[in-house]
Amino acid sequence: MIISEENPVCRACGGPLYTYDHKKRVHKKAGGIKEWYLIPRMRCADENCECQTLHSALPDNLCANKHYDAGLIEDVVEGVVTSDDSETENYPCEDTMKNWKAWIAGNTTNIDGQLRSFGHRLLEFSVEFLNDSRSLLQELRTRISPGWLKAVSWLLYNHGHRITPLGRLKTTHPLFFAVNGETG
Ligand SMILES: [Zn+2]
Repeated sequence: MIISEENPVCRACGGPLYTYDHKKRVHKKAGGIKEWYLIPRMRCADENCECQTLHSALPDNLCANKHYDAGLIEDVVEGVVTSDDSETENYPCEDTMKNWKAWIAGNTTNIDGQLRSFGHRLLEFSVEFLNDSRSLLQELRTRISPGWLKAVSWLLYNHGHRITPLGRLKTTHPLFFAVNGETG
């Protein structure tokens, strides 16, 4: 059991959070290896704060809503790891890998929008760069390699956003998936 050691602050008021409880989360690595994380769920200490939801501190090797290692997902998306690798044989299965690629491809616009909104402040991207029409996600994939998926996931999640789950993408952008021929 790995206990995440994060010390986050409230997104609404910036004040300290206290640990409300802990939740178990599975972390799957290549080859079907599983690790269990005990993730603290935090609550704002100020009872008058507008934000009274529970915050889960996400370890940086996990993506929100994904149980597989972010490094492994990234390798699959980049084509570094394929279903031919014996290490990943059956774990994850080919359909899962296909879904990860569709998940990132379908989120590019969403991620670009989020990155633009805080890229200048947090990532020290220049104004010229932010006004450029090229994809920031694409740029990050070349700048932070390996590690872009962890970075993007962490950044979005800790600012109250997330990489939209594939199932949700398919209902909001069905045309994209029809064009790209992704199913399942
Ligand atoms: Zn607060």
